[in-house]
Amino acid sequence: MINYSKTPIQELESQLFERHGIRVLVKREDLNHPFVSGNKWWKLKYNLEEAVRLDHDVLLTFGGAYSNHIFATAAAGRELGLKTIGIIRGEEVLPLNHTLAFAKSCGMKLHYISREVYRKKTKPGFIEQLFNEFGNFYLIPEGGTNDLAIKGCAEFANQLRLEISFDYLCLSIGTGGTMAGIIEGMNSSKNLIGFSSLKGGEFLVEEIRGMTSPEITNWSVNSDYHFGGYGKATSELKNFITKINDIHQLPLDIVYTSKMFFGVLDLITKGYFKKGSTVLVLHTGGLQGIK
Ligand SMILES: *Cc1c(COP(=O)(O)O)cnc(C)c1O
Repeated sequence: MINYSKTPIQELESQLFERHGIRVLVKREDLNHPFVSGNKWWKLKYNLEEAVRLDHDVLLTFGGAYSNHIFATAAAGRELGLKTIGIIRGEEVLPLNHTLAFAKSCGMKLHYISREVYRKKTKPGFIEQLFNEFGNFYLIPEGGTNDLAIKGCAEFANQLRLEISFDYLCLSIGTGGTMAGIIEGMNSSKNLIGFSSLKGGEFLVEEIRGMTSPEITNWSVNSDYHFGGYGKATSELKNFITKINDIHQLPLDIVYTSKMFFGVLDLITKGYFKKGSTVLVLHTGGLQGIK
C-alpha cells in the first residue's frame, strides 16, 4: 500500500474565536502524503487495493487540467508500479501546467478529449471505446468518487471521531464523495457542513443524499462561498490566503480549502456556531497546485 503519515491537529488562536466562545481546530490531512495528499489518499486507498487484487496493471481516470485527483492518481501509480492513463478535459496547452507536468513525469499517459466528448465520460459506449483503445484497465471515475472512495473517507471519519471531540466538522466539497464518506463514518455523532467550491452547489444536496444513508440528516451544504465558481478566484480570496498563512501558519489552496475557510470565519463572525462549541476544520489538501 501507499505509505501514510498520521497528521496533526492545529489549534488556531484569535480574538474573534474568543469573543464568540468557540474553539477552532484544523485537522491537517494535507500532510498525510507529499503527493497523494489529503482526501485523495483516502479516496484512492481502497480503489488501489481493488486494482491490485484484480491484478490490474493500468489505472485509467478522468479530470480537468488542474485536477488534484489526476495528480494524486499519477503519483499513486508511480509508487505502486501501475501504469496510469489520464483522460483530460479540453485541448493540450503547452507548456504543461504544474499538475499535468507532474502527472506526465510520473509516467501518466495524458489523453485529451474535447469538453463535448468529456461529458459522455460515464456512458457505457464511451467507456467501451476506451477499452478498445487502451486495452484492459481499472477505471476510477472523475474526482475518484465511487463506493470504494466513500468507504475510505468513512474510515477516515471514524478514526477522526475517536481521535478528538468536536461539535462541528467543516470541509470543502467538489463532487461530494468525500463528504458522503464522512457522513457515513461519523454516523450522526456530529454536525457536518460542506462548503461548495462550485457555483450553484445546491444540487450537491441531492448528490450526497444519493450516496448516504437516508436516516443520517445532521449535515448541510453551504453554497455561499464559491467566489465565482469552480477554479475561479477573486483578489479578495488571494489576499485572504496570504493573510491566513501569515497569521496562523495555515497554507490554504485556492480551489477548495480557502473558500471553505473563508466561509467558516464568516459564519463565526455572524454567530452561526453555538457558544462553547468546537469547530473542527478539515484540511483536505490541494497544496500541490500552488506553485
Ligand atoms: C478533490 C478535493 C476536494 C473535493 O473532494 P470531493 O470528494 O470531490 O468532494 C476538496 N478539497 C481538496 C483539496 C481536493 O483536492
